[in-house]
Formats: sequence, C-alpha cells, structure tokens
Amino acid sequence: MSNRGLLVVYAGASGVGKGTIMKKLLAADPNIRLSVSATTRAPRKGEVNGREYYFVTREEFENLIAKDGFLEHAEYVGNCYGTPKEPVFRMLDEGLDVFLEIELKGFLQIKESCPDCLSIFIVPPSFEELQARLEGRGTETPEVIAARLKTAREELEHHHLFDYVVVNDDVDRAVKEVLSIISDRKNKLAIKE
Ligand code: 5GP
Repeated sequence: MSNRGLLVVYAGASGVGKGTIMKKLLAADPNIRLSVSATTRAPRKGEVNGREYYFVTREEFENLIAKDGFLEHAEYVGNCYGTPKEPVFRMLDEGLDVFLEIELKGFLQIKESCPDCLSIFIVPPSFEELQARLEGRGTETPEVIAARLKTAREELEHHHLFDYVVVNDDVDRAVKEVLSIISDRKNKLAIKE
C-alpha cells in the first residue's frame, strides 16, 4: 500500500472562511499540513513571515519562477502568489496530506500537472454573506474589496471544475464534511491498491 499523502487543492473566495476551516482541520487531523505560499502582497496585521506566507519582493518572486521553484503560481488582484515545490513533495513523500490554499488559476495548473489531486471548493451560503464578511474583516480598502468580490464571482462560475463544493454555512459542519471527503478518497485509493 502506498504511503504517499494526498495533495488537496483547497480553494474558495477571499473572505469565505477558508482560514478558519483550515485551522480546525489542522487541529482535528495530525496528518494534515498546509503549504505555505510565497506572495508579493504586503503582510496584514498579525501575519508572520514563514507562517501565513513567505513575504517576498517581486524580484525574489521572479527569481523563484526562473529557478522552477513553484508547483504553480498566479497573479491575484495585483499580487503574485506561488506554491514552493520542494516542501510539498517532501511532505507528500512523508505520507502527509498537503493542502494548497490557492485561487482558481493556480488550481488549473495543478490539475494539469497532478491530475490525481483532490480538489475542494469552499463557497459562502450567499454572495451577500461574502460581501458582509469581507467588509466586516476590515483588512482591505473598498477598492480592493470590490476587486476581490468581482474575482470571487468569476471563480464561483468555475465551481464545477472541483471534485467537491462545500458550503460554509457552519464552520464545524464544513470541517466535518472536508474530513469525510478526505477519508472517503483515502478509502477508495486503499481499495484500488
Ligand atoms: P490573500 O491575499 O487573501 O491571502 O489571498 C488571495 C488569494 O490568493 C486567495 O484566494 C488565496 O487562496 C490565494 N493564494 C494564496 N496562496 C496562493 C498560491 O500559492 N498560489 C495561488 N495560485 N493562489 C494562492
């Protein structure tokens, strides 16, 4: 039986509550890891370099692209984001399930290079709820919120590309659903082998 971990693309609009669900997933399942991306975005209050992201300059980001250091990378509302390749492969080899919290363009690249990945799309109960959450968070300017909502609408139209769509109507319920999706995929893989 293969001990390789699952590669899980975990996507959803900005403000949908992905981070909150992710924290609970990490606490609930010791086999889950979250890949730490590199970004050219400025850190938000409370974000720590190497924990939420590796905060890099555009030049450093471009050097990483040139060195083929990313599994995928994309631009999102004016900033670059990318998944460092080496740590993800290392964790998968160790049998850990690695979550990539990424946007749509990155997911499409992963789907090409790793077609066996498991993909989960988190959606808000309604678009109004998403808008309220983004405004309530207070971490972005009105212009950035508007741009993020526009991107969220575009991304929602692509929900059918994902293996699973999970509605974040209740965080604990959504966490349970994601855990059950993971265990279902593992059971199916175990039967196949
Ligand atoms: P935020 O600025 O709110 O932290 O992230 C903005 C968007 O970029 C979110 O949808 C987030 O999931 C996505 N993102 C974060 N890291 C990566 C990455 O490494 N690659 C891609 N393609 N998207 C990412």
